[in-house]
Amino acid sequence: MISLGCAKNLVDAEIMLGSVLERGMEITSNADDADVLVINTCAFIDSAKEESIDAILEAHQQRGLHKGTNQRLIVSGCMSQRFAEELREQLPEVDAFIGLDQVRELGTIVERVLQEHRTPNTERRTSNADNSAFGVGCSVFDVDSDPHRQALNFVTPRPTYIPDYDTPRFRLTPPHSAFLKIAEGCNHPCSFCVIPQMRGRHRSRTPESVLTEIRALVAEGVREINLISQDTTYYGMDLWTEKAGPRQPVDSARGLTLASLLREIERIDGEFWIRLLYTHPAHWSDELIETIAGCRHVARYIDIPLQHIDEMMLRRMRRETGRAHIETLIAKLRSGIPGVALRTTFIVGFPGETETELATLLDFIERTRFERLGIFKYSREEGSRAAKMPGQIPAKVKNERHRRAMTLQQKIAYEIAADRIGSELKLLVDQPLVARTEADAPDVDPRVILSQPGPVGEFITRKIQGARGYDLLV
Ligand code: SF4
Repeated sequence: MISLGCAKNLVDAEIMLGSVLERGMEITSNADDADVLVINTCAFIDSAKEESIDAILEAHQQRGLHKGTNQRLIVSGCMSQRFAEELREQLPEVDAFIGLDQVRELGTIVERVLQEHRTPNTERRTSNADNSAFGVGCSVFDVDSDPHRQALNFVTPRPTYIPDYDTPRFRLTPPHSAFLKIAEGCNHPCSFCVIPQMRGRHRSRTPESVLTEIRALVAEGVREINLISQDTTYYGMDLWTEKAGPRQPVDSARGLTLASLLREIERIDGEFWIRLLYTHPAHWSDELIETIAGCRHVARYIDIPLQHIDEMMLRRMRRETGRAHIETLIAKLRSGIPGVALRTTFIVGFPGETETELATLLDFIERTRFERLGIFKYSREEGSRAAKMPGQIPAKVKNERHRRAMTLQQKIAYEIAADRIGSELKLLVDQPLVARTEADAPDVDPRVILSQPGPVGEFITRKIQGARGYDLLV
């Protein structure tokens, strides 16, 4: 299994591996030993699609080196969900495509693929011990010998699947840190984004399901649970009987909310961090801020993708939030949750972005001093509204804007790191000499480099002695 893209895709990969184990198969970390290779693709932006295609072709090439094994190749994930039909034509190397509603069924799909493959091959093997080609008329053919071969396509449109607490899952993260998908899909209409077309409408898990899974993870010794979804602050609101959208107040008196879920999580005993990732600014509430401030388990860290701050840009991006709302919200987060670290992402080079609009964004970055910040260059996604907009910005200009924004943020991030020297911080040890603070999400944020080995998977408290770029030193 090669899983590309975001943490949501990683959880899908974990569920796929769980379903394979459930069917009595084995997982191997050595691709040469595998009967089946699975590439879990990403289609977030063009470069992610290219990376996915490269991974598929590379896997195919590798198996070519071990021809005798007749390894099968299955493609899953967002790119498969969205482009399976086209990819079937373009990638005859692939044996099967599966979509997001089939992650729970990978085990049976593998059986089906191997069955289709095995019948002719087994016959040939028994008759003349040559397994390099298949008999004519079989539904799976040798990739090199049949030009008309087409992969099986299991993808169904408009995904609705959401895992449950008892969904078998083989975790791919370190034992002490887990991602937990509390919802799937997105109801927002952002004009640059095609994720809702791939992942479907927003659907939340029940609080019982989430809480049962958290209790089990904590009992296993997991110290950090990262709550993820496409739109974490919308959690529960799809289950309301009355309409719940970006212009409606978010209030637990109206139904299930992220705040009510966090209050339940708070009642769970144990030493662990809950980290909130992918919170849309439209669904924050005073109640949620107060709840987080009062929860010992919730990390003082908020991931809140904003994408831009210029009023016209936010409108053209169809972000359903304006500048005043965002600025008020940030002020409330900073004053309501003392010491909170804010992570956001911005897009530069969106169609029609003027130098003045960029300057507004850079000024906002400079004044707000986000602790963590990612800058994306706008990627023209086929099927999105923005792809058809006039004023597409040349790559050279996008690169230059990206460089300016990153240079600015680098200076801010280095200053923020230097400011922490001398403070005593609680750290979670990831590797003997590498740890993270509450302000650092796994994989995307800086690290703390330890001078003495620490206990992996446990919390320690240390005084910060120095900083090296984005990282802290102990
Ligand atoms: S909130 Fe916007 S950017 Fe995020 S997944 Fe939904 S549509 Fe895409």
